[in-house]
Amino acid sequence: MGKGLIISVSGPSGVGKGTVLEKLKEIFPGIGHSISVTTRAPRGAEQDGVEYYFRTKEQFEEMIAAGDIVEYDQYVGNYYGTPSKPLRAMSEAGTDVLLDLTIEGSVALKEKFPEEAITIFLLPTSFEELENRLRGRGTETEEKISQRMNTARSEVKRVNEFDYVVINDSLEKAVNELVSIITAEKLKTYRNTGIEEKL
Ligand code: 5GP
Repeated sequence: MGKGLIISVSGPSGVGKGTVLEKLKEIFPGIGHSISVTTRAPRGAEQDGVEYYFRTKEQFEEMIAAGDIVEYDQYVGNYYGTPSKPLRAMSEAGTDVLLDLTIEGSVALKEKFPEEAITIFLLPTSFEELENRLRGRGTETEEKISQRMNTARSEVKRVNEFDYVVINDSLEKAVNELVSIITAEKLKTYRNTGIEEKL
């Protein structure tokens, strides 16, 4: 059996990545999930080992030094990283894994796993639409919104470092496009070597 795909989706804050990824998990119920390590505090009912492994900055830095983190990044003042072992184990076992990473994280992952990693950049239809979505959340101050918009404008310039780009203009269309990407990647001949011998 071939190795499982390591599918990483990134996009600017407010693009609707969470909803798209939830739908994708419904469509591919067997898809693997990587639990990240973070130094941010748990929110609401979040539990250690479920949403994230919650660790201190010192613990996180020790994990980096020990080579236990395959990629990491900082986001709003906290570290986020992907533990190496479970990711490698799932991919080796032929399980496809879906990750939700920062832009830097996806790019780093592709460098580590040039064959297995598929990186997808989720774009908004326009900056106006992104701003409306951020405002619609009702949780951000105007200052935060303008900061996030500045970040988004520089982030989208990195789209060419990704394998694929999907515009999230309609949830259904974006999800269908992600399904097409995953389906086509799984059908690549080099991921199906020896298939003709099994006929
Ligand atoms: P949140 O704090 O809202 O749970 O996550 C913030 C952001 O961190 C998410 O948009 C997600 O893309 C990113 N993130 C979560 N886990 C990881 C990780 O392991 N590595 C990287 N690079 N980014 C992550």
